[in-house]
Amino acid sequence: MTDHPFANITFQQFLDNFKASMKRAYHRDEKIDVFCSTRGIPAPVLTELMSTNPLALTIPRAYGGFGGNVKQNTAFISAASYESLALSLTLGINNALFLQPFTKYGQDAAKPHVYKRFLNNQSMGGLMITEPGFGSDALNMQTSVTEKEGKFHLQGKKHWQGLTGMAEFWLLTGRRKTETGSLMRDVEMFMCDVNAPNQQIKVDEYYENLGLYQIPYGLNHLDVQLPEQNRLIPQTTGVKMLLDLLHRSRFQFPAMGLGFIQRMLDEAITHAQARLVGNKNLFEYDQVQNRLARLQANFTICSAFCVKSGEVADIENDLFPLGLEANIIKTVTTDMMQESSQSLLQLVGGKGYRLNHIAGRSTVDSRPFQIFEGSNDILYHQIADAFLKLMKNAKETKLYNYLKTYTPSIFERLRDLTSFELDFQLAQRKLVDFGQVVSRIYSMQLVAEMADKGFRNDLTENALDVLRQEIATLINNFRLENKTLVVPDYGAKSYWFDL
Ligand SMILES: Cc1cc2nc3c(=O)[nH]c(=O)nc-3n(C[C@H](O)[C@H](O)[C@H](O)COP(=O)(O)OP(=O)(O)OC[C@H]3O[C@@H](n4cnc5c(N)ncnc54)[C@H](O)[C@@H]3O)c2cc1C
Repeated sequence: MTDHPFANITFQQFLDNFKASMKRAYHRDEKIDVFCSTRGIPAPVLTELMSTNPLALTIPRAYGGFGGNVKQNTAFISAASYESLALSLTLGINNALFLQPFTKYGQDAAKPHVYKRFLNNQSMGGLMITEPGFGSDALNMQTSVTEKEGKFHLQGKKHWQGLTGMAEFWLLTGRRKTETGSLMRDVEMFMCDVNAPNQQIKVDEYYENLGLYQIPYGLNHLDVQLPEQNRLIPQTTGVKMLLDLLHRSRFQFPAMGLGFIQRMLDEAITHAQARLVGNKNLFEYDQVQNRLARLQANFTICSAFCVKSGEVADIENDLFPLGLEANIIKTVTTDMMQESSQSLLQLVGGKGYRLNHIAGRSTVDSRPFQIFEGSNDILYHQIADAFLKLMKNAKETKLYNYLKTYTPSIFERLRDLTSFELDFQLAQRKLVDFGQVVSRIYSMQLVAEMADKGFRNDLTENALDVLRQEIATLINNFRLENKTLVVPDYGAKSYWFDL
């Protein structure tokens, strides 16, 4: 197959070509400011970014793509997020939310046309799950699917889809309507090509998203008729297919996290070394060192997550059963992204509080990662539930004892902190606290495993120390009683001026 477009290109060359295109797009023209406050991507920048065909990466080789695996996708998206978080999310949406699930569950008859459009016309794809009334409660979505004369008719409203009005291909989710008009429990997925007859998706409204200006969001009106070949075929149920998709995507969050956090770290170090405050470099202040060390620990932890994703998240694997690990990696990555940008903003001071400064821009751009693809509050709750179930099955009530098997590389470091009996009847706020504890403990395990593989030791030891401190604080919080409830009607006797 010498005429294959990627026959003579190694992954490293493909990545280097893409990095060079980002340099040209983002650094060549002084007038093009990627952190500027205009929306969308200027046409010349988009043309430059697409010039090396980055979306070919995860398209199967048999269809003319590069055929990259999850490890390569992680390295690729991470390189993008060092330059632009919005660009890396754009690639993430295309690869993890459209191409990977379409490749795994799409029908062969539908594939050649779609891949060709991606490869030759720079077409893009996205995923529609969220509806105005059903976000966190997505499985109760109201988009209906009715089958008539070999066509599937989807009707409903979807909102907040990344690449709204820009992507030409979508994976749509809905529930089959029964003859009585009610909706079945299982979710079905279909590929929609907005250029095909009866498949146009009308955008009712574009949103003024707070950040990520380069990505359009909005409210979509679905009333499309799709042929049988556009249906995605689950291996068991549609819900399991959707969770396999979502877990794989969550496993790839560290790809967006790593480059972003590394950029925050590099910017923070450069700034702290250059800025003089009181005749001293910021870099020399102890609290500044504390912030920089935490930022660097975030870089190390996120690297450990990337190693794990590369090992387990390829599309051949069924990730439905790996919800606990996927949710831990998603929540901790996104919390670290937000913490890192907040820390950079603190260090830069007033100058950073501008939309067109990387610190201010990154703070708003990284915030929604804690909300989309599973709100972190809910995911921490689910992490705690799943972990407590494992402990119950093992008939273990003492956290430390269970860690001996769950996190064998690091449990000894946590002996004093975790030698207590767990109460399995926890209020939701305590489950969220406990989910945060479990997440940081598992993060320590992954950092230790990465150290064993040869990652530099000073960084992993620092990261383990930082995580241990965080776990101490979180456990303290978890074990403190807290039952406060909001007072809804608090108007009377609560105005200080009357006292
Ligand atoms: C920038 C951005 C990009 C997005 N991209 C996409 C996309 O590409 N495709 C797509 O389909 N959707 C996308 N979304 C939508 C996103 O997935 C939803 O916003 C998210 O699932 C939350 O749903 P919601 O907004 O309806 O909030 P709600 O479901 O109303 O939840 C709001 C908050 O309520 C709290 N809450 C909710 N339920 C519980 C509970 N059981 N226990 C405790 N607290 C709870 C949590 O704090 C939660 O954050 C995106 C959103 C944003 C902001």
